[in-house]
Amino acid sequence: MAENVLKGKRIMGASRAPKAVNEARACAKNDCETTLSRYNKREYCYAHAPTKFPRLRGRIVAEN
Ligand SMILES: [Zn+2]
Repeated sequence: MAENVLKGKRIMGASRAPKAVNEARACAKNDCETTLSRYNKREYCYAHAPTKFPRLRGRIVAEN
């Protein structure tokens, strides 16, 4: 019954390449020399990313 042993297939290399920008990029902010990761698609580094976190708790502030 040795013929009935299930054999896994060995994974031969990656089926697809990870998305990456070819060259290293710098932060879009002037005077910032932070190099962005090839896998980071954003323009700015984490320090300069114009992120706005919505207010999740507390009173809802009425907009003007
Ligand atoms: Zn920056």
